[in-house]
Amino acid sequence: MTDLIRSWIDSANSAETEFPLNNLPYGVFRNADGGLRCGVAIGDMILNVSRMEEDGKLDLPKPSIFAAGVWNDFMDLGPNVWADFRELLIKALAEGSPRQKELEFYLVPMSSVEMAMPFRVSEYTDFYAGRHHAFNVGTMFRGAENALPPNWLHIPIGYNGRASSVVVSGTDVRRPWGQLKGPEMDAPVFAPSKRFDLELEMGAIVGQHSDGPISVQEADDMIFGYVLLNDWSARDIQAWEYQPLGPFQAKATATTISPWIVTKAALEPFRTATPEREKELLPYLQEPGPMLYDIDLEVGLAPNDKAETTISRTNYNEMYYSAAQQLTHHASSGCPMRVGDLLGSGTISGPEKGNRGSLLELSWGGKEPLTLETGETRSFLEDGDRLTLRGHARGAGFRVGFGACTGKLLPALERN
Ligand code: MN
Repeated sequence: MTDLIRSWIDSANSAETEFPLNNLPYGVFRNADGGLRCGVAIGDMILNVSRMEEDGKLDLPKPSIFAAGVWNDFMDLGPNVWADFRELLIKALAEGSPRQKELEFYLVPMSSVEMAMPFRVSEYTDFYAGRHHAFNVGTMFRGAENALPPNWLHIPIGYNGRASSVVVSGTDVRRPWGQLKGPEMDAPVFAPSKRFDLELEMGAIVGQHSDGPISVQEADDMIFGYVLLNDWSARDIQAWEYQPLGPFQAKATATTISPWIVTKAALEPFRTATPEREKELLPYLQEPGPMLYDIDLEVGLAPNDKAETTISRTNYNEMYYSAAQQLTHHASSGCPMRVGDLLGSGTISGPEKGNRGSLLELSWGGKEPLTLETGETRSFLEDGDRLTLRGHARGAGFRVGFGACTGKLLPALERN
């Protein structure tokens, strides 16, 4: 197992921090005058790399890479620059670095700033690539015999979502209105969703553009990093609208991502393989090596800022398809991919009841409500519920995290 790389910033050496020197995730914060600054998390501090660039302290191949206050221009520089920059940061922040005095000036306490979107989302695509989730949902709607659609073991199924509603952790989410029609109703109504839900997912960020089909290895090389992702979902809107073209308004309200992008380089020691294939994949989708990651995931639900209950614990290694396979499939038609494209993994559920990544599964469609630590029960989300996703890859005496991915559900507007 990989060991902790010690830093001259004490808080980065703690077993509890999500941001040891091994991690160095990339985010964006607002400084005192509201300006957007690119930063790197280290312990309980943020290294202000926008300011370092302005002061000529970084050695990047182009000027004004961080001027836009998002990481897109940096991603566009490509994997060699990503690696060089990470090496520069590790050297400068490691114990015994001669640059300590110089860099102390650029540290901002994390607790003193608000985080913003770490990158400009070019386009957002969401997949349905967790086998336990697909099996559970399919069982509820079609019975266990026909749970997986016939294409599921061959294609990483996805739909084109909305980039416009991807928001950073901490943003409140408003319960949506939509067209609803239950099986017992004669005609649809337009009303606030009653079955509003979460989906525990990981998001992969595309860091290089492509124009034409790509191999799985090329796809993996194009991925810049990963975030936690909550794909807020209105189950009742979805049930009525989804045939024949898939989800639309049910998924368009909001998608929340964690404030920190954990790079592929930081996750490298935690690589793990997708599970054995039940049906052999077509050659274009076969992986040349392990392309998933061992990342413990959990979801906390806190009603109206009361005590939080952990409602789900699972792991990213439960996915059937990796992000690289999803990206390869996405580009297989010749669809160009862009820097800043976001790919949602699909809901990550594990084999046991406590591993389910959505309330739809946890409450089995509302038939088995959960009891929270406050004594309240939940089938779907209630107004005032705060959801918090957390994720950690674990090394020897340290962990690599994404920061909390949180959002509170506000009541629907009175009229729509
Ligand atoms: Mn989803």
